[in-house]
Amino acid sequence: MPAQTRLFRCRSDNFGVLLHDPETGATAAIDAPEAAPIEAALHATGWKLTDILVTHHHADHTDGIMALKDKYKCRVVAPAGEAAKIPGVDQTVREGDTVKVGKLTGSVIETPGHTLGHIVYWFHADNIVFAADTLFSVGCGRVIEGTMDQMWASMLKMRDLPDETKIFCGHEYTLANIKFALSVDKDNPALQARAVEAERQIAAGEPTIPTTIGEEKKTNPFLRAGDAGLAAALGMAGKPANEVFAEIRERKNRF
Ligand code: ZN
Ligand code: FE
Repeated sequence: MPAQTRLFRCRSDNFGVLLHDPETGATAAIDAPEAAPIEAALHATGWKLTDILVTHHHADHTDGIMALKDKYKCRVVAPAGEAAKIPGVDQTVREGDTVKVGKLTGSVIETPGHTLGHIVYWFHADNIVFAADTLFSVGCGRVIEGTMDQMWASMLKMRDLPDETKIFCGHEYTLANIKFALSVDKDNPALQARAVEAERQIAAGEPTIPTTIGEEKKTNPFLRAGDAGLAAALGMAGKPANEVFAEIRERKNRF
């Protein structure tokens, strides 16, 4: 049976999301920004929390873990590279490992850059990736612990996923990301169309995600760093994609 998801807001600008297997009843929270909105989502759906799949150690993704674990006795899965910084971990995972949520099967992709141990969970059969702070809608995470080259390599892993893959990311940053993206890629018609749609979604009180890998490949400057036209627009014609990526990321930091 296909997976079901429930998306909601947490803290100031985090997304929370539940992944549910209707066949077994298993339900995972992807990260635990804070307990109360996750409990509210469980209450609204009638789903019972069985797992928390953690992407990285930052507090805005882990603060709710212990309260939820105490209440639901759920399993906590976390990246091996930073498990020591994450509370309540039951199982650590690495690149290529499989994670089951009931009968749903996810695979672990290591995407260092934002943090060194950051992972994303790809549920291939359901065409969903939980990208947290690696890849945002029209943006990417700040490169805090890793190098620019590591983050670019992580972007390439994301870009290689099938176009139809739905992306659930960690934050509602889309409008600000689009403003920046237009500053480096203003003649991109797909990006202009995305700006109109995102304005409408925000005005209507709707989330701007999930987006898809196919859509991001057309509009996200961080995935488009290998595009000759974009490099030329930045005055970097002929430069390698990793250098163009680093330039775009540095411009975003200053924007
Ligand atoms: Zn983070
Ligand atoms: Fe975050």
